[in-house]
Amino acid sequence: MIDIHTPASRNYFTDKELQCKCNSCTSERGRGELCAGDARNINPEFLAHLNRVRERVYCRSMPVTSGFRCRRHSVVVAKRESAELNGKPYVRGDHAGGVGADVHVYGKDAHHLMQALHVYNWLHAQAGLPQPFTAICPNQRGASLERFIHIGGNVEAPGRPRPWL
Ligand SMILES: [Zn+2]
Repeated sequence: MIDIHTPASRNYFTDKELQCKCNSCTSERGRGELCAGDARNINPEFLAHLNRVRERVYCRSMPVTSGFRCRRHSVVVAKRESAELNGKPYVRGDHAGGVGADVHVYGKDAHHLMQALHVYNWLHAQAGLPQPFTAICPNQRGASLERFIHIGGNVEAPGRPRPWL
């Protein structure tokens, strides 16, 4: 049986993968300054789930192309502005909440990662626990280099339906 409780034997994800990659964060890092968007913004529980699914279910590398996104990240800014424009409350996305990761996979790997994430969720459901991955969103069109699967761990909120494909 797959162990969904004890931590993985190691951390498979680098700070570089998980930290915010917006222009402001990148230039702060370039100047050697403290950066508000560093990898510590990733929710440790979410990271523990990613590590377990990586080690015990998918069992292959999961390159993260986008992890945490700070307030200054263009996608986060656009989301806030669009909410304001439409007179709707801003709902923080997975990345901005430290519970989002885009994993660069395509083809067979994408198929297997989708399965692994659902199996991991299913094991939690069987144990009477909430499913850790509330968003599993394949983005598999366009150039293979740009394809990814978005994994999110946010709970349902007004303007944020979960579970979500
Ligand atoms: Zn940033």
